[in-house]
Order: sequence, then structure tokens, then C-alpha cells
Amino acid sequence: MPRVRGWLESLVSSPSVSLPGHPTGPVHATADLVSAQFREAGADLVEIIDIPGGHPLVRARLHGPPDAPTVVLYAHYDVQPATERQSWATDPWTLREGDDGRWYGRGVADDKSGVAMHLAAVALLRDAPPVSLEIIIEGEEETCSHLGSVIDRTRAAEADAIVVADLGPPRVGIPALTTSLRGVAACTVEVRTLEHDVHSGQLGGVAPDALQALIMTLSSLYGPDGAVDIPGLTTDITTTPDRGTDLGGGAAWARRAAAVLPGAGLLAEADFLDRLSSGPAITVIGLDVPRPAEASNVVLARAGAKLSLRTAPRADAGAELAVLAEFLRSRCPSWATVTVDAVRAAPGWTARRGGRLRDLARVALEETYGSSVLELGSGVSIPAVRLLERTAPRAELILWGPQDTERANIHGADESLNPDELARMITAQVAFLASITRHEAGIRATRKEA
Ligand SMILES: [Zn+2]
Repeated sequence: MPRVRGWLESLVSSPSVSLPGHPTGPVHATADLVSAQFREAGADLVEIIDIPGGHPLVRARLHGPPDAPTVVLYAHYDVQPATERQSWATDPWTLREGDDGRWYGRGVADDKSGVAMHLAAVALLRDAPPVSLEIIIEGEEETCSHLGSVIDRTRAAEADAIVVADLGPPRVGIPALTTSLRGVAACTVEVRTLEHDVHSGQLGGVAPDALQALIMTLSSLYGPDGAVDIPGLTTDITTTPDRGTDLGGGAAWARRAAAVLPGAGLLAEADFLDRLSSGPAITVIGLDVPRPAEASNVVLARAGAKLSLRTAPRADAGAELAVLAEFLRSRCPSWATVTVDAVRAAPGWTARRGGRLRDLARVALEETYGSSVLELGSGVSIPAVRLLERTAPRAELILWGPQDTERANIHGADESLNPDELARMITAQVAFLASITRHEAGIRATRKEA
């Protein structure tokens, strides 16, 4: 593991925030770093594919024997910002080992741990690769991806299996395969009422207040229990997880994962796993209003918000967003004007039934962890999964990784990774890749005998 830790230390210290408004220099520097790491790990070919108007893609290859199956290994090197508002305990761009043994830093889990898993696969298999590896490390997963415009410059279309290492188990030590992902969409809402702000004493109570209208509109999205309450949005339970699995106290697990304060409560208790993987969720992720420190006694002429919508795995994300937009327009008070603009919509994903390579992945997990594998839907969205599936229609998809929902706190403050979980996932991934060849050889031998 010292070598893996070294890779992650360098990766975490490179602040590859891909969101608009952040400097692009560190993103390009991280692409250079990732390509150097794959060269050092022993890849046969490494190239950086520049994307006009986007961030570079790192592609690496390890050639297996002729006629060996091809496996795509996907991860992303870009990260979410670590804002001052999140109040990190220590510098987010320096990997720190906590007293609990976990490694802390922005991106250490999402998804530089996935990059490390693929680096380790190359380093461990370079002398006798059982399969051909086509490694795709994206720099735009957290923003608007352009992967589709360059995917044909890789050999993804030849894939027999695609491994996406950007996920993980509900808690450390439970081996897990992800069977569905929610879709994701976003929109902005702008409410306008006046030509300009006016005095809240002279005209308050009569002048139509844009912020009041925005608050009334947004509050109509939810029922009294806090759940989304919009007719026409899809709820689709694709996976019923094994309820016997010990996540550590049922809903208490969800309280820990979400770091719920004493006195606050969850929006779902008994059915929280279904809710996370199946249903629509709407989060107000930004408000365009004065901060209290800047507030003055005026009725606001305009106010805005940005909303993130998570959709059911099999729903049409664009159609769901249209339902939300129409609902917002219909619920804005008649004394205000409202504009709703779609920002993006990317579909969810569900695993096909069966699949012999998925079975091999399950066996590799089972043997590594020594316990049975949990198959469950995830609440997150990874648009690249659908793109890769379209690019290689005969490939089976394996979605896994070391990002445990309970503690990793990806996108939030003090993101962390359990290094033992990473070590187990490295072992499982290498065992899976080796087992594909044994399986293929078995099939060929059976065919010959026949
Ligand atoms: Zn990710």
C-alpha cells in the first residue's frame, strides 16, 4: 500500500476542480500527473486526449494476449470544490491520515480512489496481463462531460466488460455491486416582481416581493413530511436490497451517513434504502439572494435559485425535468413572474439481468471479503455509464469501488477513504480480471471437447 498511498498523496495535492469558474490549470496538471502515473505503473500506451471546450481525457492501455477479452476500466480525476463554507478540519488538498486510520482529502475517495484502483491493476498485472485493459480516466465527470465526443478515439467499443470504479458499499467491509443509478437534472428558477428594489417600510406589504414568491414556489415542491410531492414525477423501485443486511441499525445508518444532528430527523425511515435508489429527490443547491450581512430594508425585485433533481433510474430525465419546470411555473404566485431554465438532464441506469462476467465479479468480491455480496441501487448519477453502455453494447458493466456511503462524505467536508477497503477492492478487481481469462479458457476447452 505505500505505493498506492504515494499515488493518492500526489493526486489529492492537485486541486482538479472541473466546475465552471475554477482555474483550468490544475485540471490539466492533474491529467499530466495521471498519465505519468500510468506510465510509471507499466501501461503500454498512455495518451492525453485534448477536448476542445472541455478538460482532457487520459487514456492508457495494457495489452493482453492476442484474442484476450478487453476490459474498460473507468474512473475520473476531477473533483468537487472544497469551499470555505464547508469548514474542513484541515487543508483539503493535503492527504492526511486521521486517528481513525482513514485518509482525508478532497477527491481521496471520489474518485481518485478509482484512479488508484486502476493504477494498481496495471502495476500488478503488467508482467502477464490476463486481459487487455483499456483505461479511461475522465476530467469532467463532476461537470458537463464531453466524453461522448472523443469516445471513438479510445477502444471502448471492443469491451467485453466495463468496470466503473466510482462507487462503493453502504459501509466498510460489506462487499457491494451497484445495480442502478439515479438520473440527474438541474434547472434555475428566477422570480421577478419590480423594476428595482423598493423601501420595505414605505411599500412592504403592498409591493410584490420576489423573494417571498420564490419561497412560496419552492415550498410547494414538498409535502409536510419533507418528501417531494409533485404529481407526474416517477418513482421506480428497481432493486430491493436484502433487508437482512446489517448496515448497523437500519435507519440509524442513514442518520450516521447524513450526519443528522440531534433534534433533526430523516425524511424517510423504514423505506430509506428504496427512497435513496428509486425516487425523485429535489435539492435546492443555490439561492441568489442577499446574504444577511449585506441585507438592507428593501422589498427585493428579483430572487433566484438552482435546483438539482435526482430521477428514478429508468425515468426519462428530460421529461421529469419538464414536469418539474411546469410545476414551478404553475405554483409561482400570480402576482410574480417566473422563468425556469433547464441546465442539464442525464439519464439513470439499471443493470441488465444475469451476466456471467457480473457473476465473476461477485465471486471475486465474495472471496476477497469472505461474505456474501450486497446488490443494491445507488442514489448517485454517473452519466458516463450510459454512454459506455451504448458504445459497447455487448459489454457487461461492473460498478463498484471503495467509497463507503457511511463515512466517505464525498462532495462534503472532510471527505475520506478507508485504506483497508481500497486494498480489498484492489485485490477483488485483480482477482476478477484474472478470473475472466480462466473462464474464457474453460469455455474454449469445453467447445473443443464438444
Ligand atoms: Zn465520482
